[in-house]
Amino acid sequence: MTIASNLGYPRIGPRRELKTALEAFWAGKSTEADLLATVTALRAGARAVQQGSGISHIPSGDFALYDHVLETACAFAAIPEGYGWSGHGPAGLATIFALARGARGTAAEREAGIPGTATALEMTKWFDTNYHYLVPRLSARMRFRLLHNRWAEAYADGVAHGTRTRPVLLGPVSFLLLSKTEDGSRPLELLPALLPAYAEGLRGIAEAGAAWVQIDEPCLVMDLPPGAAEAYRTGFRALADAAPGLNLLLTTYFEGLRDNLALATSLPVAGLHVDLVRAPWQLDDVLDALPKDRWLSLGVVDGRNVWRTDLRRALAQLRAAEAAGFGRRLMVAPSCSLLHVPHSVAMETTLDPALKRRLAFANEKLKEVAILARAVDEGEQAVAAAFEESDRVLAEARQDARLHDPAVAARLAAITPEMERRASAYPVRAIAQAARLRLPKLPVTSIGSFPQTTEVRALRARLARGELDQEGYEAEIERLIADAVRWQEEIGVDVPVHGEFERNDMVKYFGEQLSGFAFTKHGWVQSYGSRCVAPPIIWADVSRPAPMTVRWSAYAQSLTDRPMKGMLTGPVTMLQWSFARTDIPRETICRQIALALRDEVADLEAAGIPIIQIDEPAFREGLPLRMADRADYLRWAVACFRLASSVVRDDTQIHTHMCYSEFNDIIADIAAMDADVISIETARSNMELLEAFLDFNYPNEIGPGVWDIHSPRVPTAEEMAGLLRRATNRIPVERLWVNPDCGLKTRSWSEVKPAMFNLVNAARKLRAEL
Ligand code: GLN
Ligand code: ZN
Repeated sequence: MTIASNLGYPRIGPRRELKTALEAFWAGKSTEADLLATVTALRAGARAVQQGSGISHIPSGDFALYDHVLETACAFAAIPEGYGWSGHGPAGLATIFALARGARGTAAEREAGIPGTATALEMTKWFDTNYHYLVPRLSARMRFRLLHNRWAEAYADGVAHGTRTRPVLLGPVSFLLLSKTEDGSRPLELLPALLPAYAEGLRGIAEAGAAWVQIDEPCLVMDLPPGAAEAYRTGFRALADAAPGLNLLLTTYFEGLRDNLALATSLPVAGLHVDLVRAPWQLDDVLDALPKDRWLSLGVVDGRNVWRTDLRRALAQLRAAEAAGFGRRLMVAPSCSLLHVPHSVAMETTLDPALKRRLAFANEKLKEVAILARAVDEGEQAVAAAFEESDRVLAEARQDARLHDPAVAARLAAITPEMERRASAYPVRAIAQAARLRLPKLPVTSIGSFPQTTEVRALRARLARGELDQEGYEAEIERLIADAVRWQEEIGVDVPVHGEFERNDMVKYFGEQLSGFAFTKHGWVQSYGSRCVAPPIIWADVSRPAPMTVRWSAYAQSLTDRPMKGMLTGPVTMLQWSFARTDIPRETICRQIALALRDEVADLEAAGIPIIQIDEPAFREGLPLRMADRADYLRWAVACFRLASSVVRDDTQIHTHMCYSEFNDIIADIAAMDADVISIETARSNMELLEAFLDFNYPNEIGPGVWDIHSPRVPTAEEMAGLLRRATNRIPVERLWVNPDCGLKTRSWSEVKPAMFNLVNAARKLRAEL
């Protein structure tokens, strides 16, 4: 029997119940028991949905209160000192949340003995997704052991409710490769110490009665560092020996195995899962390489995107596996955990009906998996209605004239190399800009947004409810802008901004005004902890029916003689933070967005806005997982930025902004974007990120952030001047700007006002020293 299986289910809850429960608990408005009751209900709900969809390998232990990497670390006693863990027994909630969010000074923390200075673990992107995990902080002194068999427990929980599940563990090698050490040891060197804890975990899972366990090793799709292949061999030998009766399913996803295929197929496991959505080309190689006594799990349903599966195509892939000899050992699965898609399309009531038919979120994807498994075993006649529907909807999509805009195609075809090049090189532009802008040395600016206060959000809510008409709403926004401009003039900001009060979100605000984007009502995906995003869906050709920001920037400029900076979200970031169509290349979608933005840039310039910032915080995260694929991405990503920005005259200044990012390996590409000014997050790294710019001799202007806006602390002028002094040692002062690390939308005015005031004074101090 072909097994319909799942790799992981969304945790947040169809109505974001986890978010509500976590935030109530953190605010002290509910008890631990309340929180755990919600968790139990969510887990039971997830099991019920999966069972009801016909999934027979239902994952368990995939749930996490905050993050599964953090909870794996806690289960194996990889808990740094200073977070209140006694050294015995499982980590308590106060410890887990202090590791996740830093100490908050709560009573529970005091009770657990967690000092107020405990900072959160570093958080970073989970591969190339928008999910963030907490980076375990390890050391050679740690005594790894199993504190809490959360997997056996989750399995037993399922059994108690009549469901035999498949526990999911993050594998030991990926766990280490995703961790950092605090004592300079190499994480992989900790493998021998970690393996006994994993072995004990597996034994407990086997004793609980599980037949299968899923071991996620997504690092197998990456370029492996030295020693990793050996670690995989040692590690899986130990896991296989630990619980001989337990079937291990080694799961890989987000890319193809490529040069790690022989390694993956040589490991002593009962089965292998491969991602055939991202890497359909690997099927034949996998069929060749995997011994026929193994199980093969084929990820044929896209776990990373929102589109319905082409059942016929997926069935052909499964049939190929059958023909190659895996007929009696075949699993059908989503390509990866469904953590990365929303819960259910059924909840969407306002989407275009034709578009809605084309979508499949987690629940719909599970049904597709079950249908495919039946089709393999019983023939597609057994599920004929589903195949007919799949064919019909896909044909309808292909014939949907709304997907293709001939005007957009014509513009794309007419792109010339000149359109991706500023009229003159930076040194010439810099002279023209200096003459026009007349800025002091070390000009002060900010990244764009000012606090999105409850007042600001209430305005949008009232507009949406019809309690405020458009005119009334705009008058209120104008008032906020006027106040912000006046205040910036008063404190001496050289390049003011309008504050982005009118924007709900930096992608959504633009998407709502562009053709080709659609928005869900409940399409939430976990970003980290209780934070969710509802990415827009790019479903058709993108174009700009009308100017999007000119009205606000022009109003703001009318209030001041200082050069107003206009703010746009860049093409790569718009693409990266959306669910994108798959019928045309990402590069093409990105170019479409770039052309739309190019029109906006031209309109801003024509409206007298002398400085335009095009934010690209997602530029780096768009990098492909494999080094070999990076050059191609960088080529088109850089070209799209240039296409959007190069329409302006020499004396119009283009800025870009990127958040916390490593620049070392992409500095040449950052330079190739040819923005006149780039602002980056450097406060937290004490200006170390500037080294890459120094080493490269970065030719244009830079604004290294000197205020870590992620912290509620207001830095003093002296502190920021200190950081600036460090920056002046690295970058010629003529090319240095003074600004915070990032936008200020999440801060309060009581922090922003004094901090910006200090920022201006820091710049003045430095100017006086010149
Ligand atoms: N201009 C945006 C802001 O200030 C940039 C946000 C970002 O970098 N993510 O909010
Ligand atoms: Zn930023």
